[in-house]
Amino acid sequence: MAPFSRGKADAPPRRLRVYQQWQGNERFFCCGHCMAGPNWRSCIGSLLLLVLPTVVFLVWVASYMGRRVSWAIFVVSCILPALSAMWLLLTACRDPGVLPRQEPDEEWLSGRKPRTKEVVVNGHPVQVRYNDTCHFYQPPRAHHCSVNDNCIERFDHHCPWVGTTIGKRNYRTFLLFIYGTTVYIGWTFAISLWSFWVKAAELRAANKEVDILSVISADPAAVALGVFCFVFFWFVGGLSGFHTFLVATNQTTYENFSVWCIRVPPPKMDYRAYVGEVRKAAAASARAAEPPSVYGPSDDGEPRSLDGARASSSGGPALAEAAAAEVAESDAAAAAAAAAAAPEHVSLEMAPMQEAASSRGGRGRGQQQQEQQQQQQQPNGRPKGGKQREQGAG
Ligand SMILES: [Zn+2]
Repeated sequence: MAPFSRGKADAPPRRLRVYQQWQGNERFFCCGHCMAGPNWRSCIGSLLLLVLPTVVFLVWVASYMGRRVSWAIFVVSCILPALSAMWLLLTACRDPGVLPRQEPDEEWLSGRKPRTKEVVVNGHPVQVRYNDTCHFYQPPRAHHCSVNDNCIERFDHHCPWVGTTIGKRNYRTFLLFIYGTTVYIGWTFAISLWSFWVKAAELRAANKEVDILSVISADPAAVALGVFCFVFFWFVGGLSGFHTFLVATNQTTYENFSVWCIRVPPPKMDYRAYVGEVRKAAAASARAAEPPSVYGPSDDGEPRSLDGARASSSGGPALAEAAAAEVAESDAAAAAAAAAAAPEHVSLEMAPMQEAASSRGGRGRGQQQQEQQQQQQQPNGRPKGGKQREQGAG
């Protein structure tokens, strides 16, 4: 570490802080007080998109309306963008909920670490998944962000406008940012329209000809702002509406989008089969069936969210605590209902093996096959929670 080892040869080595040896892609500023995403420059671009129209609005429109109507309009026009900028920076410069990486243990190094395992959280059997980069079983609703290269607690999405991941710790300020910006855009649009009326009345009072062209040429800044706001209102307003829906239904963006990505399982029955052979077809489809969809992996190998009830058992007490808190937050009843709705005939022993086969870890196919063989050789290789889930299904 050349930059930190300058000085006299006999001087004691400089002690490094954690952020100076950070393994993820996040960037640190202000001596480690600010943690920004790897594409933090895009946050500056978003800030400019907010600041530049605001300057035009304050100089040409809000100050004019302040003189003609009320200075309260000007004051509000200063406060709203300041709040938006503050919430944007708070979102971009805050740790989104990074789960500290762990060291790989002997079991992982020897290639014997199970890809998934079942634990019981709040009485519900849930499946936790091992992450090969961060070396722990991911807590409920956590996801490894490939851009930040860290597991993020209650991962929502990686926002290219903010330049970082939106997770448990910065979701609130992100919501405030998009809501505040929607209000500000609506305000700017309304005041710009209002300024046309005021300008038209002014022209009329001066006995000048009043038509659309004369009003527009008298107030080009308001026209430009009106068009700009109209375009961005649909984008930011739509985002606000979408996140209101997500909050109301206790989902994250990632969980909502994974609905569109998971593989649709085959039907449980062959409807074109002949009547006498229906039973046989149903049994065959049961053998080929996926594990119950609520526990099934998404297309990218990550578990779905409604199986939001998952817990960590090797990630240390902090992770286990986070898991328990997350389970309490998430709708555990929904998970239980889904588990109860799982068809009885689905082979529950298949679930861990299929998960292992479909996992996207750094292990080779041969190793996975070896694991499967080991599991098949062990008659009692069923996961601990499997029995409970079977009872729940019955
Ligand atoms: Zn991770």
